[in-house]
Amino acid sequence: MKIHHLNCGTFCPSCQRLLEGKGSWLQSAKMCCHCLAIETNEGLILVDTGLGVQDVLTPKHLGRTFRSLMRPKLELEETALFQLDQMGFNRRDVRHIILTHLDLDHAGGISDFPAAKIHACSTEVEAALRPHWRDQLRYRAKQFDFNPKWAATINTTDDWFGFENIHRLKGIQEEILLVPLHGHTRGHCGVAVKQSSGKWLFHVGDLYMDRRSLYGKAPAAMTQCENLLAVDNRQRLGYVKRVRQLIDEHGDEVEVFCAHDMSELNYYQDA
Ligand SMILES: [Zn+2]
Repeated sequence: MKIHHLNCGTFCPSCQRLLEGKGSWLQSAKMCCHCLAIETNEGLILVDTGLGVQDVLTPKHLGRTFRSLMRPKLELEETALFQLDQMGFNRRDVRHIILTHLDLDHAGGISDFPAAKIHACSTEVEAALRPHWRDQLRYRAKQFDFNPKWAATINTTDDWFGFENIHRLKGIQEEILLVPLHGHTRGHCGVAVKQSSGKWLFHVGDLYMDRRSLYGKAPAAMTQCENLLAVDNRQRLGYVKRVRQLIDEHGDEVEVFCAHDMSELNYYQDA
Protein backbone atom coordinates (compact mmCIF):
# COMPACT_ATOMS: atom_id res chain seq x y z
CA MET A 1 0.00 0.00 0.00
CA LYS A 2 1.40 3.37 -1.03
CA ILE A 3 -0.26 6.61 0.07
CA HIS A 4 -0.02 9.95 -1.72
CA HIS A 5 -1.08 13.20 -0.06
CA LEU A 6 -2.65 15.54 -2.64
CA ASN A 7 -3.98 19.07 -2.57
CA CYS A 8 -7.08 19.04 -4.78
CA GLY A 9 -8.06 22.68 -4.39
CA THR A 10 -6.49 25.81 -2.93
CA PHE A 11 -8.61 28.54 -1.38
CA CYS A 12 -7.38 32.09 -0.92
CA PRO A 13 -9.86 33.80 1.46
CA SER A 14 -9.17 37.45 2.31
CA CYS A 15 -6.94 38.53 5.18
CA GLN A 16 -4.16 36.16 6.06
CA ARG A 17 -3.53 37.92 9.39
CA LEU A 18 -7.11 37.44 10.54
CA LEU A 19 -7.45 33.78 9.55
CA GLU A 20 -3.91 32.53 10.14
CA GLY A 21 -3.02 34.82 13.04
CA LYS A 22 0.22 35.89 11.31
CA GLY A 23 1.41 37.48 8.10
CA SER A 24 -0.21 40.28 6.17
CA TRP A 25 -3.55 42.03 6.66
CA LEU A 26 -3.72 42.61 2.90
CA GLN A 27 -2.69 39.26 1.48
CA SER A 28 -4.99 36.28 1.36
CA ALA A 29 -4.84 33.22 3.58
CA LYS A 30 -4.17 29.79 2.05
CA MET A 31 -6.23 26.69 2.65
CA CYS A 32 -5.96 23.35 0.88
CA CYS A 33 -8.15 20.33 0.16
CA HIS A 34 -6.01 17.53 1.60
CA CYS A 35 -6.94 14.28 -0.15
CA LEU A 36 -5.35 10.83 -0.21
CA ALA A 37 -4.68 8.57 -3.18
CA ILE A 38 -4.02 5.06 -1.92
CA GLU A 39 -2.38 2.52 -4.22
CA THR A 40 -3.56 -1.00 -3.42
CA ASN A 41 -3.36 -4.38 -5.16
CA GLU A 42 -6.89 -3.82 -6.46
CA GLY A 43 -6.45 -0.32 -7.81
CA LEU A 44 -6.64 3.17 -6.39
CA ILE A 45 -8.73 4.42 -3.49
CA LEU A 46 -9.29 8.15 -3.04
CA VAL A 47 -10.13 9.74 0.29
CA ASP A 48 -11.99 12.99 -0.48
CA THR A 49 -11.73 14.56 -3.93
CA GLY A 50 -11.59 18.34 -3.47
CA LEU A 51 -12.80 20.26 -6.50
CA GLY A 52 -13.19 18.52 -9.84
CA VAL A 53 -12.84 19.36 -13.52
CA GLN A 54 -16.47 20.54 -13.84
CA ASP A 55 -16.01 22.90 -10.88
CA VAL A 56 -12.98 24.45 -12.57
CA LEU A 57 -14.65 24.71 -15.98
CA THR A 58 -18.05 25.86 -14.71
CA PRO A 59 -17.38 27.61 -11.38
CA LYS A 60 -20.86 29.08 -11.20
CA HIS A 61 -22.04 25.63 -10.11
CA LEU A 62 -20.17 26.20 -6.85
CA GLY A 63 -22.37 29.19 -6.07
CA ARG A 64 -21.54 32.85 -5.68
CA THR A 65 -21.29 32.77 -1.86
CA PHE A 66 -18.65 30.05 -1.77
CA ARG A 67 -16.64 31.63 -4.57
CA SER A 68 -16.60 35.10 -3.06
CA LEU A 69 -15.78 33.97 0.48
CA MET A 70 -13.33 31.14 -0.20
CA ARG A 71 -11.88 32.44 -3.47
CA PRO A 72 -10.84 29.04 -4.91
CA LYS A 73 -7.89 29.05 -7.31
CA LEU A 74 -9.77 26.81 -9.77
CA GLU A 75 -6.86 25.29 -11.67
CA LEU A 76 -7.16 22.05 -13.62
CA GLU A 77 -3.67 21.12 -12.38
CA GLU A 78 -5.07 20.82 -8.86
CA THR A 79 -7.79 18.30 -9.68
CA ALA A 80 -7.25 14.71 -8.56
CA LEU A 81 -7.81 13.59 -12.16
CA PHE A 82 -4.95 15.73 -13.48
CA GLN A 83 -2.58 14.76 -10.67
CA LEU A 84 -3.27 11.04 -11.05
CA ASP A 85 -2.77 11.34 -14.80
CA GLN A 86 0.64 12.93 -14.15
CA MET A 87 1.47 9.94 -11.94
CA GLY A 88 0.66 7.59 -14.81
CA PHE A 89 -2.81 6.48 -13.73
CA ASN A 90 -6.04 6.32 -15.68
CA ARG A 91 -9.39 7.50 -14.30
CA ARG A 92 -10.59 3.87 -14.39
CA ASP A 93 -7.80 2.88 -11.98
CA VAL A 94 -9.80 4.62 -9.22
CA ARG A 95 -12.07 1.84 -7.88
CA HIS A 96 -13.31 3.45 -4.69
CA ILE A 97 -13.80 6.96 -3.34
CA ILE A 98 -14.35 7.49 0.37
CA LEU A 99 -15.77 10.85 1.41
CA THR A 100 -15.54 12.40 4.86
CA HIS A 101 -18.69 14.33 3.90
CA LEU A 102 -20.36 15.69 0.78
CA ASP A 103 -19.73 19.43 1.01
CA LEU A 104 -18.89 20.94 -2.38
CA ASP A 105 -15.17 21.20 -1.63
CA HIS A 106 -14.90 17.47 -0.84
CA ALA A 107 -17.20 15.81 -3.37
CA GLY A 108 -16.39 17.99 -6.39
CA GLY A 109 -14.05 15.46 -7.96
CA ILE A 110 -16.32 12.40 -7.83
CA SER A 111 -17.75 12.99 -11.32
CA ASP A 112 -14.23 12.69 -12.75
CA PHE A 113 -14.29 9.01 -11.76
CA PRO A 114 -17.75 7.79 -12.83
CA ALA A 115 -16.81 4.10 -12.53
CA ALA A 116 -15.72 4.36 -8.88
CA LYS A 117 -17.86 3.22 -5.98
CA ILE A 118 -18.59 6.11 -3.62
CA HIS A 119 -18.55 5.40 0.10
CA ALA A 120 -19.94 7.86 2.64
CA CYS A 121 -22.12 7.70 5.73
CA SER A 122 -25.75 7.04 4.67
CA THR A 123 -26.97 9.96 6.81
CA GLU A 124 -24.65 12.23 4.85
CA VAL A 125 -25.74 10.90 1.45
CA GLU A 126 -29.37 11.42 2.44
CA ALA A 127 -28.66 14.98 3.62
CA ALA A 128 -26.81 15.87 0.42
CA LEU A 129 -29.19 14.36 -2.11
CA ARG A 130 -32.30 15.85 -0.46
CA PRO A 131 -30.83 18.98 1.09
CA HIS A 132 -32.65 21.14 3.59
CA TRP A 133 -32.89 24.70 2.22
CA ARG A 134 -30.25 25.77 4.75
CA ASP A 135 -27.81 23.24 3.26
CA GLN A 136 -28.20 24.17 -0.37
CA LEU A 137 -25.08 26.33 -0.37
CA ARG A 138 -22.92 23.47 0.86
CA TYR A 139 -24.33 20.54 -1.16
CA ARG A 140 -24.34 21.25 -4.89
CA ALA A 141 -26.79 19.14 -6.90
CA LYS A 142 -24.69 19.56 -10.07
CA GLN A 143 -21.89 17.55 -8.49
CA PHE A 144 -24.19 14.53 -8.06
CA ASP A 145 -26.13 14.57 -11.33
CA PHE A 146 -24.08 11.90 -13.16
CA ASN A 147 -25.66 8.90 -11.39
CA PRO A 148 -22.85 8.13 -8.89
CA LYS A 149 -22.39 4.54 -7.77
CA TRP A 150 -23.19 4.95 -4.07
CA ALA A 151 -22.00 1.97 -2.02
CA ALA A 152 -23.88 1.09 1.15
CA THR A 153 -21.57 1.04 4.16
CA ILE A 154 -21.71 -1.73 6.75
CA ASN A 155 -22.84 -0.23 10.03
CA THR A 156 -21.35 -1.90 13.09
CA THR A 157 -21.32 -1.55 16.85
CA ASP A 158 -17.53 -1.93 16.77
CA ASP A 159 -15.31 0.76 18.14
CA TRP A 160 -11.93 2.07 17.07
CA PHE A 161 -9.79 3.60 19.84
CA GLY A 162 -13.06 4.29 21.70
CA PHE A 163 -14.92 5.90 18.75
CA GLU A 164 -18.18 3.97 18.51
CA ASN A 165 -20.32 2.57 15.70
CA ILE A 166 -17.73 2.65 12.96
CA HIS A 167 -18.74 1.83 9.38
CA ARG A 168 -16.89 -0.77 7.33
CA LEU A 169 -16.59 -0.45 3.58
CA LYS A 170 -17.84 -3.06 1.11
CA GLY A 171 -15.36 -4.36 -1.44
CA ILE A 172 -12.30 -2.83 0.24
CA GLN A 173 -9.80 -5.39 1.56
CA GLU A 174 -7.51 -2.92 3.30
CA GLU A 175 -8.19 -1.81 6.84
CA ILE A 176 -9.98 1.44 6.09
CA LEU A 177 -12.80 2.58 8.35
CA LEU A 178 -15.36 5.37 8.35
CA VAL A 179 -15.46 6.76 11.87
CA PRO A 180 -18.49 8.92 12.83
CA LEU A 181 -17.41 12.46 13.76
CA HIS A 182 -20.76 14.14 13.22
CA GLY A 183 -21.44 17.83 13.76
CA HIS A 184 -19.79 19.72 10.89
CA THR A 185 -22.47 18.05 8.77
CA ARG A 186 -25.07 15.47 9.77
CA GLY A 187 -23.12 12.45 8.59
CA HIS A 188 -19.58 13.82 8.73
CA CYS A 189 -16.99 11.08 9.38
CA GLY A 190 -13.26 10.64 9.68
CA VAL A 191 -11.46 8.07 7.54
CA ALA A 192 -8.96 5.81 9.32
CA VAL A 193 -6.39 4.07 7.13
CA LYS A 194 -4.03 1.43 8.51
CA GLN A 195 -0.69 1.85 6.77
CA SER A 196 1.71 -0.99 5.96
CA SER A 197 3.81 0.13 8.95
CA GLY A 198 0.87 -0.59 11.27
CA LYS A 199 0.41 3.07 12.15
CA TRP A 200 -3.00 4.57 11.37
CA LEU A 201 -3.61 7.75 9.39
CA PHE A 202 -6.81 9.49 10.49
CA HIS A 203 -8.23 12.05 8.05
CA VAL A 204 -10.76 13.98 10.11
CA GLY A 205 -12.22 16.04 7.25
CA ASP A 206 -13.62 19.34 8.53
CA LEU A 207 -13.78 18.41 12.20
CA TYR A 208 -11.43 21.40 12.49
CA MET A 209 -9.75 23.56 9.84
CA ASP A 210 -6.69 24.79 11.71
CA ARG A 211 -4.73 22.31 13.81
CA ARG A 212 -4.43 24.83 16.64
CA SER A 213 -8.21 24.43 17.13
CA LEU A 214 -7.53 21.07 18.77
CA TYR A 215 -5.97 23.01 21.66
CA GLY A 216 -8.31 26.03 21.54
CA LYS A 217 -5.50 28.17 20.11
CA ALA A 218 -6.65 28.97 16.57
CA PRO A 219 -7.18 32.64 15.60
CA ALA A 220 -10.65 33.85 16.63
CA ALA A 221 -11.79 34.38 13.03
CA MET A 222 -10.90 30.80 12.11
CA THR A 223 -12.66 29.45 15.21
CA GLN A 224 -15.71 31.47 14.22
CA CYS A 225 -15.68 29.89 10.74
CA GLU A 226 -15.46 26.39 12.20
CA ASN A 227 -18.35 27.13 14.55
CA LEU A 228 -20.60 28.74 11.94
CA LEU A 229 -20.14 26.01 9.36
CA ALA A 230 -21.22 23.26 11.76
CA VAL A 231 -24.82 22.01 11.71
CA ASP A 232 -24.38 20.88 15.34
CA ASN A 233 -21.41 22.68 16.85
CA ARG A 234 -21.75 21.17 20.32
CA GLN A 235 -21.55 17.72 18.83
CA ARG A 236 -18.55 18.76 16.71
CA LEU A 237 -16.72 20.19 19.72
CA GLY A 238 -17.34 16.95 21.63
CA TYR A 239 -15.52 15.07 18.88
CA VAL A 240 -12.72 17.68 18.77
CA LYS A 241 -12.09 16.92 22.45
CA ARG A 242 -12.05 13.19 21.81
CA VAL A 243 -9.64 13.51 18.89
CA ARG A 244 -7.34 15.58 21.09
CA GLN A 245 -7.47 12.78 23.69
CA LEU A 246 -6.74 10.25 20.94
CA ILE A 247 -3.59 12.19 20.00
CA ASP A 248 -2.53 12.54 23.64
CA GLU A 249 -3.06 8.87 24.47
CA HIS A 250 -2.28 7.13 21.17
CA GLY A 251 -0.13 9.60 19.26
CA ASP A 252 2.41 6.82 18.56
CA GLU A 253 -0.28 4.67 16.89
CA VAL A 254 -2.41 7.25 15.05
CA GLU A 255 -1.57 10.39 13.04
CA VAL A 256 -4.37 12.94 12.71
CA PHE A 257 -4.85 15.59 10.04
CA CYS A 258 -7.77 17.55 8.60
CA ALA A 259 -8.76 18.67 5.10
CA HIS A 260 -7.88 22.34 5.02
CA ASP A 261 -4.78 23.01 7.13
CA MET A 262 -1.90 23.80 4.76
CA SER A 263 0.79 23.15 7.40
CA GLU A 264 -0.43 19.57 7.92
CA LEU A 265 -0.40 18.95 4.16
CA ASN A 266 3.09 20.44 3.85
CA TYR A 267 4.29 18.10 6.60
CA TYR A 268 3.32 15.05 4.51
CA GLN A 269 4.30 16.44 1.12
CA ASP A 270 7.75 17.49 2.39
CA ALA A 271 8.38 14.13 4.09
ZN1 LIG B 1 -14.31 21.54 3.64
